[in-house]
Parts: sequence; C-alpha cells; structure tokens
Amino acid sequence: MKAVYPGSFDPVTAGHLDIIERAARIFDRLVVTVFPNPAKAPLFAVEERVAMLREVTRHLPNVEVDSSEGLLVPYVRRVGARVIVKGLRAMSDFDYEFRMALMNKKLDPEVETVFILTSSQYAYLSSSLIKEVASLGGCVTGLVPPVVERRLRELWPVQEPGPGS
Ligand code: ADP
Repeated sequence: MKAVYPGSFDPVTAGHLDIIERAARIFDRLVVTVFPNPAKAPLFAVEERVAMLREVTRHLPNVEVDSSEGLLVPYVRRVGARVIVKGLRAMSDFDYEFRMALMNKKLDPEVETVFILTSSQYAYLSSSLIKEVASLGGCVTGLVPPVVERRLRELWPVQEPGPGS
C-alpha cells in the first residue's frame, strides 16, 4: 500500500522525520511531497526543501520525495496512492486536519486520511517555531536533522551564551 505525506517542510524537522520513519514502517511505499503553502512566506525554496528531505530520508529505501502544487487528492491518485498521512501534535492541529480530511473525503471518497500521533518529545515542534528560534540565534540541535541545522546556522549564526548569562 502506498501513502502520501504532504506538508510544507520549510524546513523538515525532527518531528516530521519521526512521522516519516514511522509511516515507512506501516506502508509499503511512502511519498513525502512538498506543497508550497501560499499562506506562509517561505524561507527555503521548494527545491532546497526537497533536497534536504532526500538527504534525511536516504536511509529509508521505501521513501521517495517529490513536490507538487494545487489540490492534494488528485495528486494522491496520480501517484497511485489512496492514503494521506498526517501528523497530529495537539488539539489545535486536530480542528484544521479534521475539516481538511472531511473535505478531501468529499472530493474523493476512496482516499483515506490516516493520522499518526506525534512522539511526545516533538509535540511542541513546528517549522515556524524552529525558524523563529534560529533567526534569533537560538540553538536548535536535536530538533532538526544535522543538514538542516547547518543550513540554518549559515543563515543565522548561533549566539553562544556568554559567562554568567
Ligand atoms: P509545520 O510548518 O506546522 O511544521 P508542515 O506543513 O510542514 O507544518 O507539516 C506537515 C505535516 O506534518 C502536518 O500533518 C503536520 O501536522 C505534521 N507535523 C509537523 N510537525 C510535527 C511534529 N512535531 N510531530 C508530528 N507531526 C508534525
């Protein structure tokens, strides 16, 4: 069974990677697809997000990375899948994802949305919070894969805490 895990992944975080690794154990094939979110100003170009995702999923032979735009459900059909994977962090995700899953079901009743609950250590992680902390010089080690951390440090060097601070 093939599934699609869509998101903006700007950039991929340890929370996303945890969902990818767990979904890759459930489904035979997983396509991780970058969809630009028109409501959010992007930090990384879609091509760079795809490149970072490819690098961090290299150890997963049944995972491929793609990008697309427009409606999700026809895309899912085009790649020969019938399952959409979504990660759930909190009740705040649930309200939006609930409406989105029902709308997608209305658009194509044969496509199912499957929710995977976040691992507790990543429950507070989002790409936007990572960008906010990194842009202010905070350390995000362990919260994003090393390749992402390097890219963020190129953009915003980490401010080492001085003595007594
Ligand atoms: P965000 O900018 O909020 O990280 P994305 O669009 O990149 O959002 O997220 C893609 C998918 O991954 C969504 O289903 C989202 O709920 C899920 N997700 C994001 N962060 C986490 C996390 N820390 N744990 C579990 N799922 C997550």
